[in-house]
Amino acid sequence: DKNQVHDVDAAMLAAWPLPQPGTGGDKEMRGHILIIGGSREMPGAIILAATAALRAGAGKLTIATGASVAQLVALAMPEARVIGLTEHDTDGFSLDAVASLDPLADRVNAVLVGPGMRDEASTARLVHALLPRLVEAEVGLVLDACAMDVLFYPPEHWPEGKPMRFERPVIMTPHCGEMAHLTGIDKDCIVGLPDAPALAAARDWNAVIALKGARTVIAAPDGSLWQHEGAGNIGLASSGSGDVLAGIIGGLLARGATEAQAACWGVALHARAGDRLAERLGTLGYLARELAAEVPVLLEQLG
Ligand code: AMP
Ligand code: MG
Repeated sequence: DKNQVHDVDAAMLAAWPLPQPGTGGDKEMRGHILIIGGSREMPGAIILAATAALRAGAGKLTIATGASVAQLVALAMPEARVIGLTEHDTDGFSLDAVASLDPLADRVNAVLVGPGMRDEASTARLVHALLPRLVEAEVGLVLDACAMDVLFYPPEHWPEGKPMRFERPVIMTPHCGEMAHLTGIDKDCIVGLPDAPALAAARDWNAVIALKGARTVIAAPDGSLWQHEGAGNIGLASSGSGDVLAGIIGGLLARGATEAQAACWGVALHARAGDRLAERLGTLGYLARELAAEVPVLLEQLG
C-alpha cells in the first residue's frame, strides 16, 4: 500500500520490535557507533548525541571531533574513545580526517555525522570523502544538520545541479528549514504539506527522511510513509533537541535496526522522553541533555 500514511504509535512499535542483543553478548555485539561532529563554538552537541546513542542501547561509542576540543569532550563523555580531527579556521575539519577515520569503517556498525558541525563546505566535503568506505563496509549512516549538505557536493553544483543519490540508503533528519534549504522548496510550503516533499526526497536521494516538527513524517525510498504525532510537546523545540534525536536514531541503527525502523523508533522515543520530562518538570524549561536518560525505560515499555 504505497504512500498510505501509517501512524507511529504504541501498537505499531510493539509489532516492530527492535533487535535485542543475546544475553551472552559483548559490547561489540551490542553495536558500535562512530559519531563525527562538534566544533569550537558548538562542542557540546556531540556529547548530547553520544549520550543519546548509548541510552538507546548501543554498546560501544567512538567520537571524532576537533582536536582543540577532543580532550574536553573525552572528559565530559568518559564512556567514549575520542579521536581528535585536524581543524580548519572555518571551524570545520580538514580532509586529513578521512585517513584517521578510515580504519574505523570496518569496526563500527553505524556512523552519525553532523551534530554541532557548523561549516557546510568542509562538512559536505568530509562526508563525500567518507561515503565510498562506508558503502564498502556496509555501515549504516545518519546525516544531521549541515552534514546533509553532502547532497550538493561539490559546491559548484549548487543551486543549479541535481542532488546526488546515495548508493546505500542513509537516514537524514531535517527540520522544515533544512528541508527547504535542501530541496529549494519554500519553507512555508513544507510546513503546510510535508508528506509529498519527504516522499520525493526519499525516493530521489535514496534516503529515509525524518522530516521533523510537531508532526514528524518519516518517508522511505520504497514509498513507505509514516507519521508521528500525538506524543511530544513544545518543550522539545529547544537547542540540542535534534542532536539527541540524531543520537537515538544512530544508536538504534548501530544495534541493528533497519533505517526505517531506527527512524520511526527514534522519533517515538524522543517525543515520549519529552513527555516524561514535561510531566515531572513542566513543559517549558527541561533540557535537551535530560531527554536521553528517559530512553531506557521507554525502550522496555514500548518494546
Ligand atoms: P532540531 O530543530 O534539529 O533541534 O530538532 C527539534 C526536535 O524537536 C525535532 O525532533 C522535532 O520533531 C521536535 N519538535 C520541535 N517542535 C516541536 C513541537 N512543537 N512539538 C513536538 N516536537 C517538536
Ligand atoms: Mg538540528
